[in-house]
Amino acid sequence: MARESSNFEGLILRNINFKDSDKIYTIFVRGLGKISAKAKGVRKFSSKRLSLLDSLNLVKVGLVGEHELKTITEVSLLNSFKHIKSDFNKLKTSLYLLELVSSYLNESSEYDELFELLIKCLMRLEETSYSDSRIENYFEYQFLKISGYELNLFDCSFCSSAITEGRRFNFNYDKGGVVCEDCSSSYNFYSKAHLQSLMMLNNYKVVDGMDFSEIDKVLKSYINQILPETPKTTKFFGK
Ligand SMILES: [Zn+2]
Repeated sequence: MARESSNFEGLILRNINFKDSDKIYTIFVRGLGKISAKAKGVRKFSSKRLSLLDSLNLVKVGLVGEHELKTITEVSLLNSFKHIKSDFNKLKTSLYLLELVSSYLNESSEYDELFELLIKCLMRLEETSYSDSRIENYFEYQFLKISGYELNLFDCSFCSSAITEGRRFNFNYDKGGVVCEDCSSSYNFYSKAHLQSLMMLNNYKVVDGMDFSEIDKVLKSYINQILPETPKTTKFFGK
């Protein structure tokens, strides 16, 4: 009886060689989560066919098998993110996003919200003509939110009064949120440009001159706490 394969949309995260001519791919699949799938004889393919399964490719993939290790039956390319792959900074950012997703997700845990977020941010990186740290911070903020570690960036973590322009505030690591000047004993207040960067993370409204340096530290420090191990990507050790 022929095994029926189902088609899925997935992003190739990485691969390793397996046996003489096979490869095992780790794929983030819409509707399935992070899965492992074997491609048989794939290392004997022509390089053109093999490149369909490059890391950071969005593909339509046919999968069979109910068990832990599925088998890839067919593959077609949806997006190779060629602009990302030809720009070192964009590539570095993208690989960092992939690493976050990869180390956070357990095998076969469905996480479509995270899948959509990842694809949205990669599409954005692919389309912009410059490497955009806002996309990275936007991803990190939304990633924390989806993972249940939402930071409170919009009202004071003590008195709940709204953080607005014209008021001074800073970030309290114990509370995981911003604190207004009335409730804070620190003199290390954030700038207006920083406030705008926080607002942007919620609705992606871009204003000129936003400063992401402070929020970048806050986000990376929180993400570091929720991952099983510190990401290896250089992003964590300063850019
Ligand atoms: Zn307050």
